[in-house]
Amino acid sequence: MEKLRFEDLNLSKEIQKAVMEMGFEEATPIQSQSIPYLLEGRDVIGQAQTGTGKTAAFGIPILEMIDPLSRMLQAAIVCPTRELAIQVAEEIKKLAKYKRGIEILPIYGGQPIDRQFIALKRGVQIIIGTPGRIMDHMKRRTLKMEGLKMVVLDEADEMLDMGFRDDIEAILKQTPKERQTILFSATMPKAILELTKRYQNNPQMIKLVHKEMTAPKIEQVYYEVKEHAKADTFSRLIDAYNLKLSLAFCNTKKRVDELVETLKARGYQAEGLHGDLSQYQRDRVMSRFRKGVIEILVATDVAARGIDVEDIEAVFNYDVPQDEEYYIHRIGRTGRAGKTGRAFTFVVGRDIYKMKDIQKYTNAKIKLAKVPSVSDVAEVKTTILLDKIKGAIEEGHLGKYVSLVERIVEEEYTSLDIAAALLKLSMDEKPEKAKEGMRQDSDDELKDTGAKHGMVRFFINIGSEQRIQAKDIVGTIANVTGIPGKAIGAIDIFDAYTFVEVPKELAKDVQRGMKDTKIKGRRINMEIAKPKSSRDRDY
Ligand code: ADP
Ligand code: MG
Repeated sequence: MEKLRFEDLNLSKEIQKAVMEMGFEEATPIQSQSIPYLLEGRDVIGQAQTGTGKTAAFGIPILEMIDPLSRMLQAAIVCPTRELAIQVAEEIKKLAKYKRGIEILPIYGGQPIDRQFIALKRGVQIIIGTPGRIMDHMKRRTLKMEGLKMVVLDEADEMLDMGFRDDIEAILKQTPKERQTILFSATMPKAILELTKRYQNNPQMIKLVHKEMTAPKIEQVYYEVKEHAKADTFSRLIDAYNLKLSLAFCNTKKRVDELVETLKARGYQAEGLHGDLSQYQRDRVMSRFRKGVIEILVATDVAARGIDVEDIEAVFNYDVPQDEEYYIHRIGRTGRAGKTGRAFTFVVGRDIYKMKDIQKYTNAKIKLAKVPSVSDVAEVKTTILLDKIKGAIEEGHLGKYVSLVERIVEEEYTSLDIAAALLKLSMDEKPEKAKEGMRQDSDDELKDTGAKHGMVRFFINIGSEQRIQAKDIVGTIANVTGIPGKAIGAIDIFDAYTFVEVPKELAKDVQRGMKDTKIKGRRINMEIAKPKSSRDRDY
C-alpha cells in the first residue's frame, strides 16, 4: 500500500471537500497509512521527513473525531516552535473549513496570555501550542484537560533536542489515561522510543523514510571545489540560475555566520538561522524569508528542521552533510508542490567518499557538474534580459515610451541604435558593482558601534536636557518601526544625546523607520553610532 485516494479513506464529505479545495489530489504515503489507524483510535508513531504532509495525517483524524457539540478541549497538538504552531493551526483551519462548530486555537509564548484566556473561555476543542505555553495554561487552569481525547506530539525529535522533555512528560501525565497518543517525528532516536514506551499504548509504527525521496523533481548535482572557492561557486550558481529563494546548509553555527557575512559582503540578502537566535529573531528571519526579502537563508540542520516554505528554488549543501539522512531532509525543502527544485552540493577533497555514501543511500542520480564559468553566467543573464524585453513587448502599454523613442528618432537616430544603447545601459556591469559596494559599506557601519554582541548602537541627538526618558525612546521606536519594545536593548541618556541599542538584524529597519521622526514633538536625527575610536573625536 503506497498512496490512497482521499475518497478511499472513509472521510466525511466536509473533509473531502476541503482537501479538494486545498488542491490535494491523493493522500501522501504517511497520510494513507496513518489515517486509517488514527480513525480506529489507535496510538501511532509516524516517521516521515519534512514536507510529506504529516499535519493533515493527524489533522484529518482529529477533525473527524472531535465532537462539535461539546465545547470541551478534546485535542492538543504540541509543537516545538511558535512558527510551527502557527503553520499547523493554519493547515488544520483550512481542513476544517466545511466542518461546523469546531474551534481551533494556536497558543504560544510571546502572544499576550489574556487574549488567549478570552479565546479559551469561549470553548475551544483543538489547541496547537508550544510546550511552555500549554503548561502555563494548564497551571492556571485555563486549559482543562479532563475531556482530552487526543494528544499529538509533532516534531517530537525537535522538541527533545530543544529540552522540552520534562514539559512534554508533565503534559502527558496530566491528561486522561485513555487518551489517544500520536507522535510524529522526522527521526527516531532512542529518547523518542522511550517516550513512546512510557506514554503510548500498543502504538502502530509507521515508518516512511527514504521512499518519499521525491527525487525526480529535484535536480541534484555536485561540484568538486576547493574550500576557498566555495563562496565564488555559490554566487555564480545564484547568478547563473537567477535564484530568488535559496536555502543553504552549513554543518556548524560558526560556518553559518561566516557564510552569511560572505554573502552579505557580496551584495546578497542573506540571513542565518541557528540555535543561538531567540524565538523572536527566528520568527522574524522566517517571515522575511517567506516574503522573499531574504533571498538566501543559511541554516544548520537542526535549526531548519520542520520549516516548510514553498517556492524554495534551490538547496545548497555548502558543506556535505555528516549524515546521509540529513542530505535527504535538506534537499526535500525544494521541489515542493510539483515544481522542479535544484540541489547543489559542494564537495571538497575527501568529502567525495561521503558523497558516494549519500548516493548509495538515497539511490538517486547525483551528477558531477562543472561550475559555470563567468561567461556562462553572463549568457544566462543576457537570455533572461532578452526574455524580459519580449515579455514587455507582448504585454503592451508601451505608448508613452514609444513617444519618447519617437522624439529621439526625430533627431536622426534609428530605433535600432536606440534599442542597442538602452541594452548597453541596462547590461553594463558598473551599476551592479556600485550597488554591491554600497551595500557592503552600509553593512560595515553596523559592525563596530560599541554595542553588545548582536546589537547595533544608535546615536540620537536629544537627551536629558530635552527631558527625554527611556520610555519615550522605546515608545517611539516601537510605534514607528513596529518592533516590540522588549527587543530594544540598552539606553544611555546623556545631557544632549542618547545611545540606544537594537538587535542587529533590525538595525536597518529602525534606521529607515526613524528617518524624519519626532520624539516628544521634537524632530530628531538618529544615526548609527560610530566606532569607539572615532566617536571620541566626533562627539
Ligand atoms: P510535514 O509536517 O510532513 O513536514 P506538512 O504537513 O507541513 O508536512 O505539509 C507540507 C506541504 O504539503 C503543505 O503545504 C501541505 O499543505 C501539503 N500537503 C499535505 N498533504 C498533501 C497532499 N495529500 N497532496 C498535496 N499536498 C499536500
Ligand atoms: Mg510538520
